[in-house]
Amino acid sequence: MRFYQGVNAATGELLAGSFPICELDALDEILGRAKGAFEDYQTIEFSKKGLFLRQIRINLLEIETDLIDRAHLETGLSKPRIKTEFDRTTNQLLLFAGIIERGDWLEISIDTEDNERLPTPKPDLRKWYIPLGPVVVFGASNFPLAYSAIGGDSVSALAAGCSVIVKAHPSHPGTSELVAEMVIKAGKMTGMPDAIFQHVHAQGFELGAGLVEHPLTKAVGFTGSFSGGMALQKLANSRPVPIPVFAEMGSTNPVLLLPNALKNKAAFWAKTLVASLTASAGQFCTNPGIMIGLKSDALDVFVDKFKETLSLEPEQVMLSSSILQNFEAGRETLAKLEEVEFVYCKTPEAHRHVSPSLARVNGVDFIQNPLLHHEIFGPISLLVECADTDEMLKVINSLEGQLTGTVIGDAMDLERFDVHYKTLITKVGRMIFNGVPTGVEVVGSMHHGGPFPATTNSYFTAVGTDAIRRFLRPVVYQNCPNDLLPLALQNKNGLGIYRRINGELSKSDVV
Ligand code: NAP
Repeated sequence: MRFYQGVNAATGELLAGSFPICELDALDEILGRAKGAFEDYQTIEFSKKGLFLRQIRINLLEIETDLIDRAHLETGLSKPRIKTEFDRTTNQLLLFAGIIERGDWLEISIDTEDNERLPTPKPDLRKWYIPLGPVVVFGASNFPLAYSAIGGDSVSALAAGCSVIVKAHPSHPGTSELVAEMVIKAGKMTGMPDAIFQHVHAQGFELGAGLVEHPLTKAVGFTGSFSGGMALQKLANSRPVPIPVFAEMGSTNPVLLLPNALKNKAAFWAKTLVASLTASAGQFCTNPGIMIGLKSDALDVFVDKFKETLSLEPEQVMLSSSILQNFEAGRETLAKLEEVEFVYCKTPEAHRHVSPSLARVNGVDFIQNPLLHHEIFGPISLLVECADTDEMLKVINSLEGQLTGTVIGDAMDLERFDVHYKTLITKVGRMIFNGVPTGVEVVGSMHHGGPFPATTNSYFTAVGTDAIRRFLRPVVYQNCPNDLLPLALQNKNGLGIYRRINGELSKSDVV
């Protein structure tokens, strides 16, 4: 058996612990067990599945300090940032436990029969949602807890009733392993099927590709690069039976800087946006990678303040040496372009560290060069300076699909630029007014998704309770005898959950 070790993100030193690399020939057994566990899981009551998620949270709380220490070493993220992520992860478990128990995610819809209807009788139709089957989750490098072993993808898949196989991200294997142990322990403590959650380590792409291609895999959750997400989607679409890949791949999160707001509060917005850009070394899928403003004195003041604030920012460690290399290569590519001017860029003093940057380009050049539209993952933002409002609209129209869009403007700005921000809304999954794109609430009203290339499917969200929908599909029972229906669909509302009966939401029985 081959093993590998975690790496200290700040020093490059190998960390304690070695992790077995899963080989391709193990996949039949892993997926076979996942299928068996999936089938057994369907017989378990919702309330017990809720207890399983609650127990995972309790187990994680018991190792909180060790987990945060390990994640800090492997990712270079600060301990306070990881603590925030830890809380998000444990709260997410509670949130999804509540979702399972309430049952409203089943979205039951019942339309009763009408035998008197002419010219044809109306059948009895009862719709609900069922889980897809074994789901493969790729741990995300930039969320070692909230989007890795038991992050948003895994917890929503388990809540939906799927079994889960996690491929640990190789940049934080120890963190992933610690979490996985707690999930498996919780499964045992609450009587879940053995293989309801499996966790594997890999080196290289083969195992991940094999997991996606395996005939028993029914869906994939992924957060990472555009190239990685697209490669996995291509594999999934080339299977004899294609499956969905829910890939969240990247976004530049354009921010519209409108003139009145800048005139009145340039320093405030500069500081606020720098804080958003540099949080966790810019390694958020929502960091403000593009800002769009009108050439003006107010914009110049904003740029000066932005530059001044950037210069006070400390150097930071990036998640891994390859992510640092990708960042440097992306910045280098920008620096070679004649039309791009670097307003602020500093070479970091410490090895394996990064400093934030601001670059500038005019609207016409931005529109013409597709390279400038791509995400550079890390603390860099490109300011697009537009000659006038028409050019600004053209710049917005040239943007690709995004996770978020932001508008910074007062009431007069919003009236004057209403076409501009409304055009931006057509490109994004979430529109922020006078705020920053970073910071994603895990609630029912969140949509963390967006048109391609931000994700492979703009209908679905990776964050919030609706994330469960990715791993479910609707099934309708037509004229099924009452006693053969699943309990949730029978005339008597045995689960006491909300159901839509002939268009009305109610907890009543069908009469
Ligand atoms: P990544 O390279 O896309 O890798 C993510 C996961 O997918 C890893 O487990 C990786 O396998 C696997 N993978 C990637 N390409 C694959 C392929 N062709 N076939 C099979 N598996 C594949 O992302 P990353 O390692 O997190 O970071 C690399 C770059 O991704 C960053 O520099 C950044 O540009 C981007 N990124 C973007 C976001 C975002 O939210 N927008 C988040 C993270 C990263 P391995 O086990 O071999 O690594």
